[in-house]
Amino acid sequence: MDSAHLGDDLDHVLYTEEQIHARLAELAELIWADYHDKDVLLVGVLKGAVLVMADLMRALPGTVTMDWMAVSSYGSGTKSSGVVRILKDLDTDISNRHVLIVEDIIDSGLTLNWIRSNLLSRNPASLEICTLLRKPDAAKVEIDCKYVGFEIPNEFVVGYGLDYDEKYRNLRDIGTLAPHVYS
Ligand code: 5GP
Ligand code: MG
Ligand code: MG
Repeated sequence: MDSAHLGDDLDHVLYTEEQIHARLAELAELIWADYHDKDVLLVGVLKGAVLVMADLMRALPGTVTMDWMAVSSYGSGTKSSGVVRILKDLDTDISNRHVLIVEDIIDSGLTLNWIRSNLLSRNPASLEICTLLRKPDAAKVEIDCKYVGFEIPNEFVVGYGLDYDEKYRNLRDIGTLAPHVYS
């Protein structure tokens, strides 16, 4: 779905599909410089990261493997609490594996912080994080994120996998919604 199909639901576009793809290509280059000689497992967090994963992994110039986790984080409204439950665990035993978590967005960082600790307890050979978007609030929790696509302002964004009420994930661009959508 293109931004034009959203009509007046869309307030403004933050990043176009072309800008996202160009940035992912740059990240892929950095990632490959670090992992070309390692057997890397990309771990995506459902559902928001599906499009980042699809495009990032295809931008890599060699073979990688992929697995998925689904978690629910309890919180009020649009804020997460850091209390996380695993809805779908990895199929892969990650002990002694080089793991790269692929995320769509880090807001408070609470969810990812929990996932990170959980995966570290399984003794991977290494564990790093790649996120397409990061908000300033993320600085509140100490998360060492090695690959960041874009630092964005503190506003709620949709598209390119990111939803509002499960909608707009199939928007090609990343943008903000008009206030009337929320009310
Ligand atoms: P955190 O635990 O970092 O506060 O929140 C992480 C999750 O909240 C993300 O994986 C994403 O699902 C959701 N989230 C945070 N900010 C946004 C946003 O601006 N837009 C959308 N659609 N989801 C967000
Ligand atoms: Mg996510
Ligand atoms: Mg969501």
